[in-house]
Amino acid sequence: MVSDNDLLEEVFNNFLKGPKIFKNRAALRPDYIPQYLPHREEQIVRIGRILAPVLRGFRGSNLFIYGKTGTGKTAVVKHVLEYLLRKSREVNSSIAISYVNCRISGTNYRILADLGGDLGMNIPFTGLATSEVYSRFKTSLDLQGVLMIVVLDEIDTLVKNHGDSILYELTRINELLKHARLSIVGISNDIMFKEFLDPRVLSSLSEEEVVFRPYMAPELKDILLERTKITFYDDVLTEGALNICSALAAAEHGDARRALTLLRVAGELAEREGTPKIIEDHIRQAQKKIEHDRVNMILRTLTPHSRLVLCGMYLIRKAKITTAITGDVYEVYTELCGEIGFEPLTQRRVSSLISELDIMGVLNARLVSLGRYGRTKKIRLGLTNSTIIEAYSDDPWIKNLLKFKPKCLLSKVKR
Ligand code: ADP
Ligand code: MG
Repeated sequence: MVSDNDLLEEVFNNFLKGPKIFKNRAALRPDYIPQYLPHREEQIVRIGRILAPVLRGFRGSNLFIYGKTGTGKTAVVKHVLEYLLRKSREVNSSIAISYVNCRISGTNYRILADLGGDLGMNIPFTGLATSEVYSRFKTSLDLQGVLMIVVLDEIDTLVKNHGDSILYELTRINELLKHARLSIVGISNDIMFKEFLDPRVLSSLSEEEVVFRPYMAPELKDILLERTKITFYDDVLTEGALNICSALAAAEHGDARRALTLLRVAGELAEREGTPKIIEDHIRQAQKKIEHDRVNMILRTLTPHSRLVLCGMYLIRKAKITTAITGDVYEVYTELCGEIGFEPLTQRRVSSLISELDIMGVLNARLVSLGRYGRTKKIRLGLTNSTIIEAYSDDPWIKNLLKFKPKCLLSKVKR
């Protein structure tokens, strides 16, 4: 009998025998910041100019940066700040820099606690009122008498979830400080974000604005080429693969993060296959794998009722009914609920679950008019059977229900 260790021995030996693809894997991770950022010279210089006054002891203007995801905002800002910090030490200017990702920190309390933490304050994880944390932060900042630059990245998620009260406080804080000064760099992935802000907050936050436009295919190619030098051994990435990778990511709103992920997954596929080169087909396979993983992830995070709606759509298609209307889905859904002893939601709630699934790309729902009988949705499933079966292989209820034959479908004529 082959023991587990023999199998592992073979896996490891095969890997070691295989071609060398990656020189440095970490350099393809999303948080890696390269020293050279092609096609962002203009933004780097502008942000540098806006923040430079702190080197002479003056507060820099507040700055508002926006652009779609993967356009290099975080990388550029971190790059500029790192340099600024080094320069400030060289000229003995006392500045403090705090970078907070609002999506990760999540709440007003956490954000203030993180800012305080960067001033060396010790703020408990919970337990104080947010206003108390703010006031301690203000006091400490003034005592230290520093020029502080606060970067609030993914600020759009904060404002959408918790409003703009903390921004309002922070944009006014200088009026209350005697010895310190604070400037804010706000970064948003949502380009319509400004509409969520109180006009007073907006006008102080956007004393200066810098826009990051999506990258075009040739720009993405330069970015990838530069990164390739660090990550892959020479001649691993073929010209064809590079071109298709840039083109695919350019089509996807010029997203450099997407391009780098494609490249990493393609490299892993080539490595696992034991091929010494990354070719076009690896990029295409990588694209499919990423999409598959994304959908799988969505399916696995659906709530029980959404799963039942999806399961209903699956059974409807299995019964060879190609387009279903909301009423059909609801009928199957209630039968499935009965089968496992769930209290069904109302048809209105189910209709809104269908809309959510549509937005996620799991279903395609189209509103149609039924003349004087009002309107309904025509719904199709947007996934393959195997995707659904795989995603729910460890949900025993759904797994069984996918094999169920609903009575209500027996009488339906084919549409
Ligand atoms: P954003 O914050 O706009 O969503 P990021 O700054 O996180 O985008 O960039 C996404 C990824 O693409 C990161 O891994 C980053 O290093 C890389 N990247 C973006 N722009 C460039 C560039 N001009 N040169 C090199 N890498 C870049
Ligand atoms: Mg970012």
